[in-house]
Amino acid sequence: MNDRALHARHRAVLPDWLALYYANPIELTHGEGRHVWDADGNRYLDFFGGILTTMTAHALPEVTKAVSEQAGRILHTSTLYLDRPMIELAERIAQLSGIPDARVFFTSSGTEANDTALLLATTYRRSNQVLAMRNSYHGRSFSTVGITGNRSWSPTTLSPLQTLYVHGGVRTKGPFAELSDAEFTAACVADLKDMLTQTGGSVAALIAEPIQGVGGFTSPPDGLYAAFREVLAAEGILWITDEVQTGWGRTGEHFWGWQAHGQQGPPDILTFAKGIGNGASIGGVVARAEVMNCLDANSISTFGGSPVTMAAGLANLTYLLEHDLQGNARRVGGLLLERLRAIAAPLETVTEVRGRGLMIGVELATPAAATAVLEETRARGLLIGKGGLTGNALRIAPPLSLTVGEAEEGAAILEAALRAAAGA
Ligand code: PMP
Repeated sequence: MNDRALHARHRAVLPDWLALYYANPIELTHGEGRHVWDADGNRYLDFFGGILTTMTAHALPEVTKAVSEQAGRILHTSTLYLDRPMIELAERIAQLSGIPDARVFFTSSGTEANDTALLLATTYRRSNQVLAMRNSYHGRSFSTVGITGNRSWSPTTLSPLQTLYVHGGVRTKGPFAELSDAEFTAACVADLKDMLTQTGGSVAALIAEPIQGVGGFTSPPDGLYAAFREVLAAEGILWITDEVQTGWGRTGEHFWGWQAHGQQGPPDILTFAKGIGNGASIGGVVARAEVMNCLDANSISTFGGSPVTMAAGLANLTYLLEHDLQGNARRVGGLLLERLRAIAAPLETVTEVRGRGLMIGVELATPAAATAVLEETRARGLLIGKGGLTGNALRIAPPLSLTVGEAEEGAAILEAALRAAAGA
């Protein structure tokens, strides 16, 4: 051991590109409910759900007990033996997915889940051409950087895929800026059709986030994805919904994000990760048997579906369904959205407050303003996230058990931070 500050040691031994929040980064030591503590003993209200991985609550006793009991029995991972917790969780997710004759494959992260979805779609369709949305984020592995539309999150352009990026996820400054929602949707559909006539050979799939997460919690206008779906289904092109941030009831009105888009029927492939493990590393893919079974592989990776993470997922899923946390996200998220809109109304620095359920984006005029608010909230005991097209949006995604009192407390802190950062 040496006595250099932990931050300096991090810098000296980990990659330079491993980004940290805050000028003086935080080391979290423990959590409880919707709160976390750092190594200096500071307590924070967590409005970022441990970056959306702590979906339900910090240190949820049901999850802790399930993990420790399973780890005490056997701590191993193998896809070569029967794994009871994996089968049980797969049965529940298959049923919840709404996908007919569903098969579930577990991974350890969202990136691997999307990687597997790409492997399935390109194999099934015998094509490495895929469509992704502009401003999307699906991971940074070698294949998923190829479907991640924002350059600042995509460290290489040497993708093994041929990707075309589609308009619709976010209204950029280009020719679409001044259009109404209906005109924008029509223009995006026309552009998609045009794109399909220009591609040589078949396209495997389109992958889309129901609400762009890292992109700043932006949604396409209602009906846009449904219109896309119709065009793509006519050509047999698969629809992959990336539910890594939007699944499990976070958006309040629906259990899955895709359900808000008026699409006819479930997607061909659904990917999930983050919150289902309440902090344990779970990702996964759901697809109907015909698509899932097109691969000739005896597994993809060793660790997906480990009994310990599966036990966490089962306990967490049971808790969130039994306590109707989707309903809580709708109720408390609705109140929070209303409150934040009222707070933002007189502030010139805030250009938009948007969201569904407990997934709320606050867009600021500049990236510098977002960074300043991030620091101000931290100083006042609130953790939030950042994202958006240029890093100019604040992301609010608390654990789904957030209470009304905590929502009000967080909103008050955010108001003070916004005012301080604006010099008001
Ligand atoms: N898809 C989406 C929509 C995400 O937000 C993320 C992570 N931010 C990923 C995929 C990648 O998931 P992971 O970090 O678990 O690999």
